[in-house]
Amino acid sequence: MFVRLWGVRGSIATPLTSAALREKARALLAEARPEDLASPEAIEAYLDRSPHSWTYGGNTSCVEVSFADVVFVLDAGTGIRALGAALKAEGRLAHRLHLFFTHFHWDHICGFPFFLPIYQPGREIRVWSGRSDAERLLSIQMNDAHFPVKWHNLPSRIVCQQLPEEAATEIEGATVRILPLIHPDKAYGYRIDYGGHAVAYLTDTEVSKHPDRVADTYARFVAGADLVIVDAMYGFLDYHEHINFGHSSIFTFIDFFRDTEIGELVIFHHDPLASDAQIARLAADANRYKELIAPQARWRLSAAREQQTWRW
Ligand SMILES: [Zn+2]
Ligand SMILES: [Zn+2]
Repeated sequence: MFVRLWGVRGSIATPLTSAALREKARALLAEARPEDLASPEAIEAYLDRSPHSWTYGGNTSCVEVSFADVVFVLDAGTGIRALGAALKAEGRLAHRLHLFFTHFHWDHICGFPFFLPIYQPGREIRVWSGRSDAERLLSIQMNDAHFPVKWHNLPSRIVCQQLPEEAATEIEGATVRILPLIHPDKAYGYRIDYGGHAVAYLTDTEVSKHPDRVADTYARFVAGADLVIVDAMYGFLDYHEHINFGHSSIFTFIDFFRDTEIGELVIFHHDPLASDAQIARLAADANRYKELIAPQARWRLSAAREQQTWRW
């Protein structure tokens, strides 16, 4: 099982600005020692270890979960465009393709019209969600007013299917479960089990408002998963300025999974207003909180960044 993050930002795509790039360049130059710049290899090594040489990324939600000749995609935010290009570059355009949607808010679907496989003649794409009206919600953004290519003119065959809430569904040898989330309109979290490993994906959801009501349900849903990706758009204090926005704070999830066996908890759906430094600070604060309230927990905690991968 292979997981790669293609979009980790919430709400709207946020390209790196010139000012942010310049700030990184300034820090890189200021901290470099003469030996760090002595050769191309030394420069590469310096860039590898410097916290200023990369960004968490600005594309909206898209997560690849692959195994065998199968590609599962969780959400089609702007990150999915680069996934389509990678499938071509890596010779995987013939792999079987399944798209899973948490919900149909713009930031989770707006990359879909730019996903190369939908333009492959004869290609079949299965679209899954917890709703019965996925085709309507997905095709709206390809009507006359919004996009030059019409849904009904696409050369691929896109088949939308509803997943049941109450039972697991077997797809390509994987077991897929959904969980209703707490978000305006309807949204569903996912758990995908394959070959003895599991990934849980729980965005967008506001668990921080009434945590006691759902803590056990979430802990049971993710128990044993190698990777748990959660909506942690806000820090502890900014959450309280965004109650009823449909998003959570990472600190609530740390409480939830204090005694749960998981491999890694991942902060996801970053606030578009958060700089790289602010996300890094949130991850550091979250790790400190985890050490305080869950010193016994063996799972790791990180903040999602584009191109981050896991393989089991
Ligand atoms: Zn979202
Ligand atoms: Zn949403």
